[in-house]
Amino acid sequence: MARVHNFNPGPAGLPLPALERAQRELIDFEGTGMSIIEHSHRGKAFDAVHSEAISLLRRLLDVPDDYHVLLLQGGASMQFAVVPMNLLPPDRSADYLLTGGWSEKAFAEAKRVGKARAAASTAVDKRYTRIPRQGELSLDPDAAYVHMTTNNTLFGTQWHWLPETGDVPLVADMSSDIMWRPMDISRFALIYAGAQKNIGPSGLTIVIARKDLVDSARKDIPVIFRYATHAASNSLYNTPPTFAIYLMRNVLAYTLEVGGLEEVERRNRKKGELLYATLDANPDFFLAPVEKESRSFMNVVFRLPSEEMEKRFVAEAAKEGMVGLAGHRSTGGIRVSLYNAVSVESVERLTAFMRDFAKRG
Ligand code: PMP
Repeated sequence: MARVHNFNPGPAGLPLPALERAQRELIDFEGTGMSIIEHSHRGKAFDAVHSEAISLLRRLLDVPDDYHVLLLQGGASMQFAVVPMNLLPPDRSADYLLTGGWSEKAFAEAKRVGKARAAASTAVDKRYTRIPRQGELSLDPDAAYVHMTTNNTLFGTQWHWLPETGDVPLVADMSSDIMWRPMDISRFALIYAGAQKNIGPSGLTIVIARKDLVDSARKDIPVIFRYATHAASNSLYNTPPTFAIYLMRNVLAYTLEVGGLEEVERRNRKKGELLYATLDANPDFFLAPVEKESRSFMNVVFRLPSEEMEKRFVAEAAKEGMVGLAGHRSTGGIRVSLYNAVSVESVERLTAFMRDFAKRG
């Protein structure tokens, strides 16, 4: 079997043991004579998987009791709209911290729902190469919430500190760095993330929300969009994405087995350090645009001296079994995604290839 070194930006690689478990259990799940995909979402077999998935999320992220953990559909993009539908009353305004293409999209959706303002932006000529400082944020003390994107998948920047928002609830799109390390959930009022980068397959969206915020959310919106609906039914209001939840369960159970998020962080830091050290050792060849303090451990972006070289880099790497390295269609260049399932060995392979490629020029 030839598994590639998968640097895809999302959907991304998943840990092999989690996939192998799914393979073993696929046709006959726990002696029930059918796969988990074929089970009722209201039956005993799925119920156990569903509860385990939620309790693993709670345990790995150390989610406090006064937070709901919801398993939803529609992707992070749907949350761009659902967050303001729930949390932005007509007489209030929300603050958005703009640090990349995804936060721009979240901001645009919020403006379709109600009043929202940009409380910070680090865009220069539509490109973002850094995270703002606290002193650059012009926060509205009466805002309904402050929205941030903790990791900017396209531009390769990541918040390494959290904005101080006083009493204003902090809402975070964590799609591309949820679970990259242990995190203090209590600093956030609401977190949302598509599962398809760090924790599972696409089709599943995680929402972690403070209970009081869910209780006081707007009720004049369709039932299906209310967080309260899904909280009241343990995310079983309608048919959930059962197979995606099952697979995430496998990924999380494996994550716990190998040491939890402390171990995940240790590996992620090692991977990032290896890659950035390779870029920094040859700054004339690898052009890394992101300010050092804002560098992402999940998506590393850089350019080579010419587009022709970038094409060749991607093609030659693919021949050596390293895939997913082309930058986003809107930014170009090279992007290496280092999500949780990428091994240190894969990054060692890639950095050896990079050094060799630079030498050949
Ligand atoms: N936010 C961020 C930070 C992302 O990286 C992505 C997907 N790449 C999205 C939102 C959109 O996610 P989805 O495709 O799940 O709607």
